[in-house]
Amino acid sequence: MFRFSTIKDYHTTLQNGQTTCVEAVRCYLGSIKERPQLNAFLEVYETEALERAAALDQERQQGKALGKLHGVVVGLKDVISYKGHAVSAASHILENFTAVYNATAVEKLLAEGAIIIGRQNCDEFAMGSSNENSAFGPVRNAIDESRVPGGSSGGSAVAVQAGLCMISLGSDTGGSVRQPADFCGVVGLKPTYGRVSRYGLIAYASSFDQIGIFAGSVEDAALALEVIAGADDFDSTVSPREVPAYSAELAAPDKRYRIAYFKEALEHPGLDPAIRASVEAFIKKLTDQGHTVTAIDFELLEYVVPTYYVLTTAEASSNLSRFDGVKYGYRADIAGGDLTELYKASRSEGFGKEVQRRIMLGTFVLSAGYFDAYFTKAQQVRQILHQRTRAIFTEFDAIISPTVPATAFRIGEKSNDPVEMFLADIYTVFANLVGIPGISLPLFKHPNGLPFGLQVMTSHFDEVSLLRLSRQLTAIPG
Ligand code: GLN
Repeated sequence: MFRFSTIKDYHTTLQNGQTTCVEAVRCYLGSIKERPQLNAFLEVYETEALERAAALDQERQQGKALGKLHGVVVGLKDVISYKGHAVSAASHILENFTAVYNATAVEKLLAEGAIIIGRQNCDEFAMGSSNENSAFGPVRNAIDESRVPGGSSGGSAVAVQAGLCMISLGSDTGGSVRQPADFCGVVGLKPTYGRVSRYGLIAYASSFDQIGIFAGSVEDAALALEVIAGADDFDSTVSPREVPAYSAELAAPDKRYRIAYFKEALEHPGLDPAIRASVEAFIKKLTDQGHTVTAIDFELLEYVVPTYYVLTTAEASSNLSRFDGVKYGYRADIAGGDLTELYKASRSEGFGKEVQRRIMLGTFVLSAGYFDAYFTKAQQVRQILHQRTRAIFTEFDAIISPTVPATAFRIGEKSNDPVEMFLADIYTVFANLVGIPGISLPLFKHPNGLPFGLQVMTSHFDEVSLLRLSRQLTAIPG
């Protein structure tokens, strides 16, 4: 009988002959079919996944060395290229596009024996916080189907939450892995900018984007990171630093950490009082366990969301200029030979409303008359944030905060208020602005019955401390 807890346990049961990769894949295919209304997958690679599982079972039975992710059933957010398979960024503009190469992260997964089960729904071009911006319909939160799963990697979060795969890869530009992980009650890890190659990831804002991991446990996230991280000739922004054996590092003895939190974050008027109370009670437990937890001033908090939205929309307006109806993707059917009209019609018909809004915002902040007032200013704020962050990490090992100021809202509840939706990113965008790693740990349950998470962040490339501390925190009794 197949039942999943962790990858390590799964491997033990495979080796004992208690289950097979085929049985695991069948089980997930069955679960996906049972709940189609979740809309987590845009496509399921049924035959292919079963064939690969059978081949892996055979290799194992022949005594071949097993990959680190042998038989691990993985889902990919629909912004990550998998050769020969559609990749659409949940947009009509790329609806019929097929990936011509593998993302480096996918290449690495496959080399370690992973089975890719399908392509997961998300907000169009990863722009959103609720998964309501997909051209292929919203994703539903498995704990309450009237609610959003968060975004933009909503399908990837729900797939792990509802047991539709073992782990998922998503992307996190301003919280798109951590925020849906919070709403769905799973682990969501965003590595340091430059830890994982972005080759084959459809770009939203290139100086922010990072591939991240959804998992049921810190252990599984650590193992997956160990596989997908590392230098890549195809992405010059990836660090050549050696990749630690994150999963083995987790076995290190417990440590006492110097933890900081931003006073302004916990005192924020937009923070749900029950979330604040849970985080405060948790801080008390941390100090009881011998960690030092210090409140520090972070007067820059009110600038992070505006700075993020100026810079990411600017980068998006540039990145998305390649979708013009000429080179690839959707082309409007217009009469006459006017090229500008073709661009206009293809982009107006192909892109959804939120993507159009962001392209326009980005074009505006980059325009000659406003460049200094918005773009340059935002770059300066980003620089100040960097300096402040470096200073904080000379005194502290980690920063904690709620991941999101509220729990999962109802589908449609915030659709008409983009600014309110943007403000919900207040705790997550900071890590992307400065490039540090962050994780959302599913530690809490709200009085309304919904899960929510604690965010932990550490210094650049200190995923070892991030994961070790996370393992310790998840072991603290509730
Ligand atoms: N919610 C944020 C946005 O809409 C984050 C998106 C992301 O991380 N891809 O930009």
